[in-house]
Amino acid sequence: MDWPRTPVERIPARRFKPPFCPWKGCPSQSLNNFRCVRDGYYSRKCDRRSIPRFHCKICKRDFGQQTFSNTYYLKKPALLPKVAAASVACGASRQIARMLGCSHTTVVHQANRIGRHALLLSSLALEQLDALREPAVLDHFETYQYCQEMAVGVATVAGARSHFIFAIDPTLHRLGGEMRPARAKRLNSLIRRHGALPTGSYRKSTERVLEKLLPKVRSGEQLRLIADGKPDYRAAAQPHIESGRLKMDSYPNPPRRLKHEPKSEQAVLRDRAMFPVDVLHKLIRHSSANHKRETIAHGRRVNSIMLRLYVFMIWVNFGKDRSERRPRGRSPGMDVGLAEGILDWKQVLSRRLFPWRQKLSGMDRKLYSMAMETPAVGNNRRHDLINAF
Ligand SMILES: [Zn+2]
Repeated sequence: MDWPRTPVERIPARRFKPPFCPWKGCPSQSLNNFRCVRDGYYSRKCDRRSIPRFHCKICKRDFGQQTFSNTYYLKKPALLPKVAAASVACGASRQIARMLGCSHTTVVHQANRIGRHALLLSSLALEQLDALREPAVLDHFETYQYCQEMAVGVATVAGARSHFIFAIDPTLHRLGGEMRPARAKRLNSLIRRHGALPTGSYRKSTERVLEKLLPKVRSGEQLRLIADGKPDYRAAAQPHIESGRLKMDSYPNPPRRLKHEPKSEQAVLRDRAMFPVDVLHKLIRHSSANHKRETIAHGRRVNSIMLRLYVFMIWVNFGKDRSERRPRGRSPGMDVGLAEGILDWKQVLSRRLFPWRQKLSGMDRKLYSMAMETPAVGNNRRHDLINAF
């Protein structure tokens, strides 16, 4: 992946050359005739540093070196990598705020900004991946938004050999299990207060994930998809199986067993095949405060849950060794040929990405603009700033 490791702020003013005009809608972006001139300096309010300013000769507007940095417009730019590191180390917003000595709303705003950057970076990584050269393992990570009756499944696809996470996609679904009178009462009161619970399907979410993966399979080759026995996976994959683009291996989940009972042969085979996503789901529960069992820090909005999972995805793909128990000095991103070394958070956040300069899937665009609403929350604020992000 073409990703500079030196943060924009560390480049001396005399050596910095703007790569493009950062203004949305500037004709230089489509005509490819960007020209700019230096236009003095301004003093940054938070630390009084001098920031060089530029003037675009095409759209006649100004911008500074900071416009290309992820800390653009932040009052506390030094917090950004610290918030990112704490959010994948099981920190909840208020705990991180206490640790860093700032307000918890600062943490929430910065975490959302990091989440949007992580979403754009994962999309860029998939765009720059030249080919999918290994089987993909698919399963849904089960969680909930707002309250436990509002179940959310997140499709996670990991490489069978590299353990690189290729895609994540959310779906809202009805919670299974027995409808006892107490639960029915709770559910009815919830529906009375907030209207019908939102629904979706595993099938739609699997279709969206396959739409992202299949263009990465070389022509004449097949994608090998490994999944458990959910009928929705088979239904979503069927058109691609018929066209010869996909081969599916299903390993149905064996019936539950008691701890002392030996594993059946079927269970051993299933666990071996599904290991990359099983271990990923364990790591999510272990490292994210909002996915712990019995927590009060659970996600309120599916959109925020997804942005936080994108931060987690970037950390797993580029920021850590595949195995922390037996480190080899190689991240999954290095194994698929997208990175040359393990990136720390300052390097991950080294450049600002612009949503209008990237191809995003429909779901990613929706998540970026915070348009996936949870009516029960009440205030579903969208991210619709024009020039900031
Ligand atoms: Zn311009």
